[in-house]
Amino acid sequence: MKIGIVGLGLIGGSLAIAFREKGLEVLGVSRKATTCETALAKGIVTRASTEMGLLQTADVVFLCAPIKAIVPTAQALIPHLKPTTILTDVASVKGEIVQAIAPLWPNFVGGHPMAGTAEQGIDAAIPGLFIDAPYVVTPTPETPPDAVETLKGLIALLQSRFYCCAPQIHDQAVAWISHLPVYVSASLIAACGSETNSEILQMAQAIASSGFRDTSRVGGGNPELGLMMAQGNRQALLNSLAGYRAQLDQAIALIEQEDWEAIANLLATTQQQRPSFL
Ligand code: NAP
Repeated sequence: MKIGIVGLGLIGGSLAIAFREKGLEVLGVSRKATTCETALAKGIVTRASTEMGLLQTADVVFLCAPIKAIVPTAQALIPHLKPTTILTDVASVKGEIVQAIAPLWPNFVGGHPMAGTAEQGIDAAIPGLFIDAPYVVTPTPETPPDAVETLKGLIALLQSRFYCCAPQIHDQAVAWISHLPVYVSASLIAACGSETNSEILQMAQAIASSGFRDTSRVGGGNPELGLMMAQGNRQALLNSLAGYRAQLDQAIALIEQEDWEAIANLLATTQQQRPSFL
């Protein structure tokens, strides 16, 4: 099977590495010639080009460009594909993308590998990124079941955990566990950074340790990705942020009232709930 990848960055490059390791032929298309040269020099892809025409013999093509570029990239690619090619994408939001691409290419299956690092670009691509990570596919009632099965087989090769749901279910679920945490974490960093007493601020920065590292990690990542989450998954993110604000308001009220029993119950409940998310 010939795999095509458009956008040789962290995700596209890491997919290419994983499929090459399994002995598949991988054709890579990227925007910059230097990225193609790097991918070839590192042996990440079998062939590389800045031209979509390279993918005319590909059996399955993964669109791995930034979220905003996924639909225009699909539009530019589609005239070059053979009719049987299965097209999929890796964007972290699905509703609008599936709605835009499915009518253009019936053999399209939306997808989202839930793995990543704080780095970006071809040099961030690493082996084993998808092992044990969830990989969600989001077919519609019209998506051909064979296309989903083929993608499921490739996801098994990546050693990822396969999940399947409607695009809207995916978007609200990732708003809760991926996009909301970015904004909670970014707000945490901004709130700490807003300390006006320089002595306190310097002390806080000096003594911040593993707890702060854990809770600030996703808010201190690639700003472009966080912006695209908000733009691409706006309503689901707003729903989650409203739910989070309600919880914060409740915690503030309970602490103001010195209702320590209610606080203890709240924390006991969240302690019990956490494992079911991990
Ligand atoms: P990335 O490292 O920046 O890679 C994207 C690559 O796409 C770039 O290396 C770039 O290649 C190319 N590209 C950039 N702008 C483009 C444009 N306007 N048109 C066409 N190609 C363009 O980003 P990434 O983290 O791999 O993210 C790619 C996709 O994966 C996104 O849709 C994101 O939602 C999804 N995703 C990301 C993560 C994560 O944690 N990072 C996790 C799951 C899914 P050149 O060097 O050739 O310009």
